[in-house]
Amino acid sequence: MGITNYTIVTLGSHSALQILKGAKDEGFKTAVVVTPQRIPLYKSYNNFIDEILEVKSWTDFPKLEKELLKRNSIIIPHGSFVAYLGMDQNKNMKVSYFGNKQVLDWEENRKMQREWMEKAGIKVPHRFRKGDKIDRAVIVKSYGAAGGKGYFTARNQKEFDEKLRSYNEERFMVQEYVVGVPVYFHFFYSPLTKKVELMSIDKRYETNVDSLGRIPAKNQEGLNIEPSFEVVANIPMAIRESLMAEAISMAERVIETSKKLISPKGLFGPFCLETIITSTEEIYTIEISARIVAGTNCFIDGSPYTYLLYDEPMSTGRRIAREIKNAVKINKLKEVLD
Ligand code: AMP
Ligand code: AMP
Repeated sequence: MGITNYTIVTLGSHSALQILKGAKDEGFKTAVVVTPQRIPLYKSYNNFIDEILEVKSWTDFPKLEKELLKRNSIIIPHGSFVAYLGMDQNKNMKVSYFGNKQVLDWEENRKMQREWMEKAGIKVPHRFRKGDKIDRAVIVKSYGAAGGKGYFTARNQKEFDEKLRSYNEERFMVQEYVVGVPVYFHFFYSPLTKKVELMSIDKRYETNVDSLGRIPAKNQEGLNIEPSFEVVANIPMAIRESLMAEAISMAERVIETSKKLISPKGLFGPFCLETIITSTEEIYTIEISARIVAGTNCFIDGSPYTYLLYDEPMSTGRRIAREIKNAVKINKLKEVLD
């Protein structure tokens, strides 16, 4: 079958516009699944979205299964998939899915993620287990891709104990707070070429932590402001070239390790290493996202890094479609689908 027989589908949220624009640029049919209030937004991009499939709520998504199968659909997962559909619903869908669904378990569970990174020889912030003495500043994180929701920081044991009393999350991890700057590296691993590509880099714009410096500390006194980390937007970055080699090597180790841990295919397609870089240029990875991240939306027409690899605008969304197209051409589509 040629590529015009396939429809690239995703949920109307997160990075859907980038994914569908890229799919259209590569020659695929495109469809978006949306809830009613978002129809006007996606309708306004009918230059690259062929079809809008409506669901009353995200939980109705599996009801579309027949329709999606009829269209030879390929679902492209993004950050909203597990968050909106839940793990089981997502896994049970029979529609073709770009990626390895087994990776979802490793991504969702912070402990498994940590094991993966440690085995890959990647620096991770110290983790405090239940009962450990908190001897430095910590950040407490809930599980799951919550976009920084439900986090808090504490300077010491006393503050930690106090804040924990009014904390509503059941599952969380306590991490050393790494002082440095956040840098999010976006990669793409092709199982066809066996190469890791650095696609782009962003930092997040988080409320309210990124704004605290606007008021001097002395004016903040008494206001009782707690830092929070909810992401509002993403800001493009170009990193010191001397840091690129280590970042790419880290990504390659993450992929190699995934082939052993998450057999047989491991992680492939887009992923992100979310890091904090300290003043001694140590790169700590605070999290890995095993899918397209929203920071890639800064680069719908390509990034400085994709320009080094491609003589045309190449977003991560378009790169996904390109991979599917290449796989179709050489009759290896099964290798990139689950
Ligand atoms: P864990 O074995 O680290 O996954 O922890 C299991 C649960 O214990 C977590 O989901 C939290 O509810 C709680 N917990 C984890 N770390 C700590 C900690 N440092 N102090 C207090 N409770 C914790
Ligand atoms: P995450 O959900 O793990 O991507 O974290 C969201 C935000 O919390 C990051 O962008 C950082 O601003 C902050 N953060 C998370 N973990 C740490 C850490 N260990 N040290 C310092 N800041 C952190």
